[in-house]
Amino acid sequence: MIIVLMGPPGAGKGTQARHIVDKYNVTHLATGDMFREKIASGDDVGVKIKEMVESGRLVPDELTIQMIADRIEQPDCKNGFILDGFPRTVEQAEGLDMMLKEHGLFMDGALEIKVDDNALVDRISGRFSCSDCGEGYHDDFKPSAVSDICDCCGGEHKFVRRADDTAEKVKTRLGIYHEQTAPILPFYEQRNMLHTVDGMGSMEDVKINIFSVLDGLEDSNCDLHDSKEYGDVRCNYKK
Ligand code: AMP
Repeated sequence: MIIVLMGPPGAGKGTQARHIVDKYNVTHLATGDMFREKIASGDDVGVKIKEMVESGRLVPDELTIQMIADRIEQPDCKNGFILDGFPRTVEQAEGLDMMLKEHGLFMDGALEIKVDDNALVDRISGRFSCSDCGEGYHDDFKPSAVSDICDCCGGEHKFVRRADDTAEKVKTRLGIYHEQTAPILPFYEQRNMLHTVDGMGSMEDVKINIFSVLDGLEDSNCDLHDSKEYGDVRCNYKK
């Protein structure tokens, strides 16, 4: 299964991706996490992109597309993958189409988590996560049971906040989402690949709705879809 997970910052893509990984046994490819790892490692790319990422601006398409093209060749992507935070521009969506085509792979669908803008600043500016296991928290909506201890893995003093999760930077990121990323939605809609779920409900409700969309894609067997675009039969991972 190859899925693109879309939605503005704070829509809950990371949280839902974790559920999808557990249920469908696919690899989670989050470009934001990959870039933050490069920054933490201090390698050449990390130094080059640090300021862009921490201020909420996009990393250049060429570098981003190449990073994903290399990553999907790794053995852990054989069973499928979920792209979280990629593509973010029409150029990246076209780059993804090309790289999948080169590998003889096809996307099963794009899943949009739709959330009102005015909910997002509050959602993002209070969030933090465990640097050991990745569990996400929020000051108001989901604090940890015991201060400074992760409910999930028991790690102590492991909580981290992202440098770009301030109210001011969230506004920059939302602006970029609407200008550069939202135009990808019609790109997938025209190909009959876009599935939208309401992201304003509880995390559990959103998860159930996402699973129902993905189960529908699985039922269609992932192996026989007419592709108007290429005029062929799409085939990913046959059972
Ligand atoms: P995220 O964790 O998805 O919110 O991404 C954090 C930051 O990483 C973004 O604000 C960008 O600076 C950078 N980034 C992540 N994914 C992409 C992408 N597909 N294209 C360009 N920049 C990206």
